[in-house]
Amino acid sequence: MTQIIAAAAPGLGLVRTSRLKLPLAIIIAASIFVTSGCTLFDNTREYSSERFIMDTIVSIKVFSEDKDRAEGAIRSAFEEFNRLAVLSDRFPEKGTPAFDKSDVCKINDNAGIRPVKVDDDVFTMIELSKKYNEISEGAFDITIGPLADLWGFGGDNQEVPSDAKIRALLPLVGSDKVEIDPQEKTVYLKKEDMLIDLGAVAKGYAAEKAAEVLADKGISRAVVNAGGNICALGGKTDSKPWVIGIQDPLDASSLVGTVEVKDEAAVTSGDYQRFFEVEGVKYHHILDPSTGKPARASIGVTVINQSSAVADILSTALFVAGPEKGLKLAEELGNTDVLYITKDKTITMSPGMEAKVSLSSGNAFKFGRDK
Ligand code: AMP
Ligand code: MG
Repeated sequence: MTQIIAAAAPGLGLVRTSRLKLPLAIIIAASIFVTSGCTLFDNTREYSSERFIMDTIVSIKVFSEDKDRAEGAIRSAFEEFNRLAVLSDRFPEKGTPAFDKSDVCKINDNAGIRPVKVDDDVFTMIELSKKYNEISEGAFDITIGPLADLWGFGGDNQEVPSDAKIRALLPLVGSDKVEIDPQEKTVYLKKEDMLIDLGAVAKGYAAEKAAEVLADKGISRAVVNAGGNICALGGKTDSKPWVIGIQDPLDASSLVGTVEVKDEAAVTSGDYQRFFEVEGVKYHHILDPSTGKPARASIGVTVINQSSAVADILSTALFVAGPEKGLKLAEELGNTDVLYITKDKTITMSPGMEAKVSLSSGNAFKFGRDK
């Protein structure tokens, strides 16, 4: 009953797995006990609902004593999530109602032509994305749209493009070519054929806005899980955090460990979330904007930050940047915990993350730094 957050999609989530190691099993058992206690002693119940939005399963769980309040809040939170999904969808065909409702489609359609007035939230997502493009020295870049299309991730035409084709599109990449006007709330792509893609920020941003709606409706304990982008409102109880599993990038049925969050977000970017394989080589969806090819410095990065939008942006940015630069950047930014998993089966964490993580015993990982 209280096994929170089914693994809706790869990434984060409390996952049932046949390979649960003892400490993890104990943590989950403990959390079941805690919540059962709530239902017995204070009439708090769990209310939850799931919908397929932004190409993933979004689940909202709320703990409340008031059924009507909980269900109404969940409905409103989904409305908000859906509103942002419609505005940020870049895939509808031109001429369809979905295209006309999407600010991202309008921005892309007017690349090299004119600035487009956008919804305040879309503006904020793009403003944040530009900011973190600079902070990450280009690792995070929403203008990778043309390259993502070239690789065809998630579509029917996934293929390894030639270097010449990649090189030809690189001049379209660069957030400095995204002009924004904070007064007018307009966005302008300076070059024809540029395409922005909010895939690395929209889920986290929408999860945060959905959680804000829940809070406005009087909910103090909830989790919004957008395909592994987890935004926690409060803790599981007043004194206990939520406990969330971190998937093993090398084995989808196993967890590398669990992490505790309370009033904060935990977001994972991984090379296993969307990919195709050719001759034994995995080509995944997170691109290094400097090369136009899948970033190879990490295979899984989990970021904890109070803002779910920032955690989403940083999980992608730090994935591309790799552990050496990424851990330094997280430290400079402050209030950012990060866990890196690299191809050589090494786990490296920021000190703050070490305090929040319980690693599964007996897994095959080594530790970076001095653990
Ligand atoms: P995430 O799962 O949050 O790491 O986001 C991955 C998605 O963001 C991809 O499917 C692309 O749509 C987009 N993306 C890929 N590479 C980058 C990048 N370097 N910067 C920003 N967005 C990216
Ligand atoms: Mg992201």
